[in-house]
Amino acid sequence: MIEWSEQHKQIRTMVRRFIAAEIVPHLEELEHGDMPPYDLLRKMLKTFGVVDMARAQFARRIAREKARAENTPEPEERTKSPEEVGNELAMRMLPIIELCRYSPGMVTALGVSVGLTASAILARGTIAQKERWALPLLTMEKIGAWAITEPGSGSDAFGAMKSTAKRDGNGGYLLNGSKTFITNGPHADTIVFMCKLDDGRPPQDRAVVSFVLDKGMPGLAQSKRLRKMGLHSSPTGELSVADLRVGKEHLLGEREEQNSGRKDAKSTFTSERTGVAAMALGIVEECLRLSVDYARTRVQFGQPIGQFQLIQLKLAKMEVARMNIQNLVFRQIEMASQGKSMTLAEASACKLYCAQAAVETCLEAVQLFGGNGYMAEYRVEQLCRDAKVLQIYGGTDEIQVTHIARDLLAE
Ligand SMILES: Cc1cc2nc3c(=O)[nH]c(=O)nc-3n(C[C@H](O)[C@H](O)[C@H](O)COP(=O)(O)OP(=O)(O)OC[C@H]3O[C@@H](n4cnc5c(N)ncnc54)[C@H](O)[C@@H]3O)c2cc1C
Repeated sequence: MIEWSEQHKQIRTMVRRFIAAEIVPHLEELEHGDMPPYDLLRKMLKTFGVVDMARAQFARRIAREKARAENTPEPEERTKSPEEVGNELAMRMLPIIELCRYSPGMVTALGVSVGLTASAILARGTIAQKERWALPLLTMEKIGAWAITEPGSGSDAFGAMKSTAKRDGNGGYLLNGSKTFITNGPHADTIVFMCKLDDGRPPQDRAVVSFVLDKGMPGLAQSKRLRKMGLHSSPTGELSVADLRVGKEHLLGEREEQNSGRKDAKSTFTSERTGVAAMALGIVEECLRLSVDYARTRVQFGQPIGQFQLIQLKLAKMEVARMNIQNLVFRQIEMASQGKSMTLAEASACKLYCAQAAVETCLEAVQLFGGNGYMAEYRVEQLCRDAKVLQIYGGTDEIQVTHIARDLLAE
């Protein structure tokens, strides 16, 4: 793939119109007020028919799974051509790119709820768990959070994990632990909570398991939103669980599989990391657009600043970053069209590059705008603060380096 198709461009125009009409007027409240992003996201999904599509897709999936479980013939399902799969990925990426021009936080809130939380339940859950928890997340009737990070365990998410589940002797479990930096944490209705099964073995040998928790369960506390540098349209909070008693139906998959939690989290890392390319593309495209416009109109020393070579160098570097990131987005779509996807190392390289390029581009945009760049009104300062998180969440830059190097050095 070397460019967006006409169909893609039409969808992009529709998404742009929606954002201009429905989201841009609320940017101030999203950014500086306490307006959670969820109603606007719901409206967006509904407007573009995503809710109906999600419902229909879910119904077909569950019908197949039920047939398999009951050993009856599976309902006929037309196999999608690889091109359709690629096209679907493109259609998922376009709204991410467009929304990130204004609000990367909204993409984060949506991605964690629908992407990470619902996907985790769909990947590992039983049919009953999927029906109970995944469907309302896919339609955004409910908001989801995916909780692995703890005050003492971030990059070393599994090694230093302290949250525990103990069998309670009645077929259920007793959960304890604290999580931090959890996207949607303050508002989440459904939480995938990762912890270690305390079965008496040393912590490093314990299985990592995931439980699904509901808002309001006795023993579960959800903090207020944490104050942070950027990404204000994505509420982030702490979760704590004290002697929370759950039945086995809350254990994802209802099986204590050794390392199931680790495997699920790793596959989540790959999708999280590749998703950063689309986010970075939206941020970089918008910074470049705003910067070109400013370079044409801002006059100093009797000429538009775009005539100065040092400003031209900034614009040229932004364009190089935009092209490279766009190529990584196209590569993902092209791979999907051929039934392939990035390995974890490739996804890590993709995230490392895109996150760094987005931050560098934003910083250059702020510089190009001079004092105005430091003012909220010109928007590049918000994009700059928001972009920084791409180098931190989903694995820091340094952790991406370790994953790339491990793959390169493997014999
Ligand atoms: C806005 C936001 C939203 C988030 N949302 C979620 C969420 O929804 N769910 C969730 O579970 N988590 C979430 N996180 C947590 C995020 O994934 C972690 O912050 C991230 O993985 C880094 O962990 P840490 O903050 O503990 O940093 P640390 O791991 O303490 O790292 C500190 C520094 O040491 C470096 N470092 C650590 N290990 C190594 C190493 N081996 N080699 C070299 N350098 C190293 C790091 O790169 C970093 O520079 C979110 C974070 C933010 C900021």
